Amino acid sequence: MPAHDRSSGILRATLALFLGAMMAGCSPPGGQAVGAERPDWTDLRERMVRQQIETRGVKDEQVLAAMRSVPRHRFVPDDYREASYQDSPLPIGESQTISQPYIVALMSELLEVEAGDKVLEIGTGSGYQAAVLAAMGVEVYTVEIRQGLCERAKLTLAELGYDNAYVRCGDGYGGWPEQAPFAGVIVTAAPDRIPEPLIDQLAVGARMVIPLGDFYQQLMVIKKTDDGVEERSVIPVRFVPMTGEIELQGEDED
Ligand code: SAH
Repeated sequence: MPAHDRSSGILRATLALFLGAMMAGCSPPGGQAVGAERPDWTDLRERMVRQQIETRGVKDEQVLAAMRSVPRHRFVPDDYREASYQDSPLPIGESQTISQPYIVALMSELLEVEAGDKVLEIGTGSGYQAAVLAAMGVEVYTVEIRQGLCERAKLTLAELGYDNAYVRCGDGYGGWPEQAPFAGVIVTAAPDRIPEPLIDQLAVGARMVIPLGDFYQQLMVIKKTDDGVEERSVIPVRFVPMTGEIELQGEDED
């Protein structure tokens, strides 16, 4: 075979391979525009659930199904997409972070809520935790103090069709009184004490899951009872601080 035939044969084979790969990557289930190098997000999610979440003891089937379904990569900035299913928190801008997948799953399980329940979240951030709860069929009311993050989260949740997640921009200290009582309250920024209005808005028998403390924080479950609250500490965690009204309250006491 003449040299030029051989090389055009190689060229044709390379082109066929390239086109094949392009076509394989062209019709993703999510319908996003992608190229040949697109990671298999579904596979990455499956591995995330098995290796990071199930092995650490999360068992709630609704939580596991939600973690398998929510496209975490859509909630992180483009530069971090490839890392979105890793076992770590990631930056989401404005010095804030999206929590580690395991922590999202654990907190969702600790709430002990089910489809149809109303849950209040303080600290929308990227909107990922809200999406996980929404995917469990929960009606989510979430509040974010940073306008930029708030608007972006609203957009992401709307684009992905989570129409049972409602986002409000502002200080979450006062909760969302018009929608109270809640079957669960999840706080994803750390205050050094429990914001009183959030206890008020919790239904009797319901739980609040909240990281408490300054630098060293404990993830706490606070269950509201007829005559007060029962508290238990779960694991040490590291969240960004809760800002706004709660900080002013701290100053009053100093
Ligand atoms: N749940 C988020 C991650 C939370 S990061 C996610 O899934 O991506 C903590 C968020 O709490 C930050 O975005 C921060 O701006 C927000 N935050 C801090 N103090 C707040 C307050 N008082 N009210 C509402 N949001 C607050």
